[in-house]
Amino acid sequence: MKIKVKAYAKINLMLDICARRTDGYHDLFMIMQSIGIYDTVTVKRIKGREIKLLCDMPDIPLDERNIAYKAAQAFFEEARIKKPSRGIEIEIEKRIPHAAGLAGGSADGAAVIVALNKLYGTGLSDGELCRIGAKIGADVPFCITGGTLLAQGIGEVLSKVKPLRKCYITLIKPEFGVNTGKAFSQFDEFGKVHSPDCLGMLKAVQSRNLADISSRLENVFEQFIEVPDRIYMKDIMRKNGALGACMSGSGPTVYGIFENKENAEAAAEELKSYSKDVFVCAPVNSGCKIAVIDE
Ligand code: ATP
Repeated sequence: MKIKVKAYAKINLMLDICARRTDGYHDLFMIMQSIGIYDTVTVKRIKGREIKLLCDMPDIPLDERNIAYKAAQAFFEEARIKKPSRGIEIEIEKRIPHAAGLAGGSADGAAVIVALNKLYGTGLSDGELCRIGAKIGADVPFCITGGTLLAQGIGEVLSKVKPLRKCYITLIKPEFGVNTGKAFSQFDEFGKVHSPDCLGMLKAVQSRNLADISSRLENVFEQFIEVPDRIYMKDIMRKNGALGACMSGSGPTVYGIFENKENAEAAAEELKSYSKDVFVCAPVNSGCKIAVIDE
């Protein structure tokens, strides 16, 4: 049996770092949204006990450093799958830019956990899958559950909020990547100069008013992560009719929210002079999804 899973990327409609914890992690307030950019993760069983990884993007590690690999190991331990039955091949068709603030690695990890639950017939609940996911990365439970969610704690405490209305999202990933760990160190060093209106955003999300939500997009990482030309990219989004624009995660991806597709595409066309990684997509109201099961 072969399982193919769509592993969706996310954006942050709101990202606030509330405090640094004594364990070195940070308490966050995030409103996260799954979007229609996805990696395709195919998992099948093979002879032996090896976790074999294949990926069509050259910079991605193909060993235990890969989040997909870690996810498989964590699943096998938690689901008590015996070592001789652990031979699998994971193939990742990478479309989500990496080190981009779009949770590309976490999405792959989530997809592997969901696929293995099906492949091994373990029947674990979504809650149990999220608990396994949280062991390998704070964004993995979000990528399993998906849609529009409030994420607190280090990102693993999820609450359902009202889904984002139909809209179009234009994204641009500048040529360089941002290391999330280093981004948090910057926060530890410099702190934030301003706290976003998290509750105002929560109210806007619950009222499903797209214009209000878009006018409140905010990400504290923008206060200390330098993304060259970010101002111009946001200007291009707005000039083409974006209701709002913001950076996602620890960056550097910048996105804009549009009511109509033509405007989103016009912004994308103009943004191509800044980077080759420009996308137009729509919100998705689910986490990673099994697309095909080949018997
Ligand atoms: P987040 O928004 O959760 O901070 P990100 O989009 O900034 O995530 P990722 O795409 O998850 O970052 O990649 C961060 C690093 O993790 C990459 O530089 C890469 O070396 C490593 N990595 C490990 N596994 C994967 C994977 N399956 N896909 C992408 N990157 C991976």
